[in-house]
Amino acid sequence: MKVIILGAGLAGLSCAYFVKSQDVRIYEKEDHVGGTAASTYLMGKAFDKGVHIFFSKNKDVLEIFNRSVDDKYSKRRSAPFNFYQGTCFKHPIQNNLWKLPFEVKKRCLLDYIRRPSSMRVRNYHDWCLRNYGQGIAEFYRMYTTKFYRTDPRDMTTDWIGNRISTPTLEEVIAGCFTEETEYRYYQDYYMYPRKGGFLACFSELFRELRTPVFLNSEARGVDVNMRTVFFKDGRREVFDKLVSSIPLPMLVHISNCPASIKKETEKLRWTSALVVNVVTKNSIHLPGGDWNYIYDVDKRVTRQSYPFILSGDEGNCRSIQVEIPFLMGKEEVDVKETVERVIRELIELKILNSPGEIVAQNSGITDFAYVIHDRNRRSSVRRIRGYFRERGVYTIGRFGEWDNLWSDQAILSGRRCAEELNRTT
Ligand SMILES: Cc1cc2nc3c(=O)[nH]c(=O)nc-3n(C[C@H](O)[C@H](O)[C@H](O)COP(=O)(O)OP(=O)(O)OC[C@H]3O[C@@H](n4cnc5c(N)ncnc54)[C@H](O)[C@@H]3O)c2cc1C
Repeated sequence: MKVIILGAGLAGLSCAYFVKSQDVRIYEKEDHVGGTAASTYLMGKAFDKGVHIFFSKNKDVLEIFNRSVDDKYSKRRSAPFNFYQGTCFKHPIQNNLWKLPFEVKKRCLLDYIRRPSSMRVRNYHDWCLRNYGQGIAEFYRMYTTKFYRTDPRDMTTDWIGNRISTPTLEEVIAGCFTEETEYRYYQDYYMYPRKGGFLACFSELFRELRTPVFLNSEARGVDVNMRTVFFKDGRREVFDKLVSSIPLPMLVHISNCPASIKKETEKLRWTSALVVNVVTKNSIHLPGGDWNYIYDVDKRVTRQSYPFILSGDEGNCRSIQVEIPFLMGKEEVDVKETVERVIRELIELKILNSPGEIVAQNSGITDFAYVIHDRNRRSSVRRIRGYFRERGVYTIGRFGEWDNLWSDQAILSGRRCAEELNRTT
């Protein structure tokens, strides 16, 4: 059985790692493996495509991690911070109101006490209202509008799971008086390799891969009836099974699927991100946590991190990364102007003292960052994936399943597909 895998991100690599068929080939459009989990380097500092930390409860993924990093990793408590109107306080806001202005804090607390805890939840904003009341829900509305570029009223709740905490009244009250609150992140600890950036967490997947990986090989066409993939350089491959980890809209775009499926795809929404990387001279002042959420709607900086802290890198420079989400094709982003604005905002946030501290900087665009969970997503994805599945095309990974999978879930997605292929061989 001939298996062609499109994309050498974690899902594609994992599928190749676990599949038993002898005739498997991976085609990747970039000149490197790793996809969204890969890093770039600036002055020797690794920068991921937006803040990436490793955590998993799955023992098989943890085993891959352990074999990959071989004890050379740092383990730290997940303790991000929030920035809002000049204050910087522990995340999440719901049990860390302490530093907010008195009137804001009072309103959040009173609204929390009066929250409509039995209201019917129709969307994400309702979910916030029911769990936190109007005051705190307003903070979530601000951040969601920045991060997902979407009003929370237009989002569903099927993605929440344990991602957002719902503290007790006692915890909310305690958080109004002290900073000594319980950490309430969905993972208590995170891991990060000392060297090699985030992808080094999973080097076991590609270190001794017996499957040939063809880099710089972008798939430009898929004929689902002829079971053939056409590549940019003119090559073609006939397959028995095609495994695609490329984003669903791209797969649909290059396939000869019917107009009804193309129309369904037009309903899918996602964010892209401009990622700005900065290397600065050393400084002792590092406000916030290892990574931070910026709530102010007048700031484009949305998520910010210190990559050198994640890896425990004790060099002479420090590294700062900023993510600016946007809707590709719907929102114009002038990269030069936005990067200049980001530097100004980092100074306003007191993360930088002056532009003179900057030693090097660069930026890049991640075309597919976060899937937007709106009302259309579930039914459209079911139809699109169902169409391909009936024709021997498996869609896997974060953008093949069209769900915001973490790295371990992307690996498991690839493995599930391999197991299915193993059963049919
Ligand atoms: C900003 C951000 C932060 C994240 N933070 C975390 C985190 O902290 N922890 C965590 O566990 N996970 C995190 N994730 C999720 C994690 O990055 C993903 O789950 C994982 O990397 C997805 O792997 P994948 O193989 O499914 O997709 P991808 O990595 O996107 O792989 C798809 C591959 O297909 C290739 N491709 C695309 N088109 C073609 C084509 N036409 N032909 C051939 N190849 C093609 C791409 O180049 C890519 O290599 C984050 C994701 C983002 C975007």
